[in-house]
Amino acid sequence: MGPDAARPRLRAGVDRLFVYPSATRAPAPGIHRVSLNELALPPLPVVLDAIAAAARDAHRYPDTYGARVAEAVAGRLGRAVDDVVVGPGSNALLLRLLTAACGPGDEVVFPWRSFEAYPVNVEVTGATPVPVPLTADHRHDLAAMAAAVTPRTRALLLCSPNNPTGPALRTAEVEDLLGALPDDLLVVLDEAYREFSIEPETVDGVELGRRYPHVVSLRTFSKAHGLAGLRIGYGVGTPEVVRAVRAVGVPFAVPEVAQAAALASLAAEGELAERVAGVAAERDRVAAALRQAGWPVPESQSNFLWLPLGARARDFGNACAEAGVLVRVFDGDGVRVTVGEPAAMDLVLSVAAAFA
Ligand SMILES: *Cc1c(COP(=O)(O)O)cnc(C)c1O
Repeated sequence: MGPDAARPRLRAGVDRLFVYPSATRAPAPGIHRVSLNELALPPLPVVLDAIAAAARDAHRYPDTYGARVAEAVAGRLGRAVDDVVVGPGSNALLLRLLTAACGPGDEVVFPWRSFEAYPVNVEVTGATPVPVPLTADHRHDLAAMAAAVTPRTRALLLCSPNNPTGPALRTAEVEDLLGALPDDLLVVLDEAYREFSIEPETVDGVELGRRYPHVVSLRTFSKAHGLAGLRIGYGVGTPEVVRAVRAVGVPFAVPEVAQAAALASLAAEGELAERVAGVAAERDRVAAALRQAGWPVPESQSNFLWLPLGARARDFGNACAEAGVLVRVFDGDGVRVTVGEPAAMDLVLSVAAAFA
């Protein structure tokens, strides 16, 4: 066999893992992209200034584990700095948590439909995904999730508010669930959209983690903070969990520009809260208009709305694209619309009104 036929032998099953399509380039001018749950607004001026200042040190390695961000987050949440792990987005942190908790032969229970990355991440670790269908009103079926836990289960994932359907979990129902689970089971509460929730009963993973140390909360700067392009998020758990997540990841993973932006964004809480309130108000306007027109839109506590279109999802997505607005189609299931500029929302509403 000649050298041109040589190829590296990879781990069994790697060739079957899912690879994300690389179709996320900026849309053409005049086209609205509301398919990725991004914030429609660019970073605040103070955040842009912090990014520019940090860029001058780009020849230096960043702080190993984002210590200043961890301190700022810990201070705001009233937790110890050793309880906070900063990483290149909360999805990367989830993969690290799962890598630390499970491998081949283990099982991971999660709601479905939910964040697309859950089954993908579980499969990367070699463990078996155990998706548990949502209830008819698009919420987690917590009783069924508890029933799906076996001696092989190494992690249980919760998404609140749930991407892509919208409802948030309530504290009482999560406490009931925890009461039914073994207390050595890693429970991950993915709170990527928590800031958009206006429902006072919404579970707070960081609060819960104080009383249930096997609960880890994952949060991100990608959504409410509008820093998706900089890749920074954090997890809150015990020092043992923080250590494990660091051990299975790589150091220097979060650029200084991202750390500086996150710090500036945390310091601009007031302005950020106004933006988030604006998104929530626009969400409720669009949801009310859709329901008025007869669409069964579930309650959303996030920055997106779910249209349970079933087999008609693709047609609706195509009709939106023709009207100049890109929505996220889950073929055969539904369409997710991120709350964006009012002009984009009005286009979606006009497509919805004409869609028979
Ligand atoms: C967007 C999202 C994340 C994380 O995104 P990062 O950009 O990796 O921080 C995590 N969970 C859910 C449910 C999301 O929708």
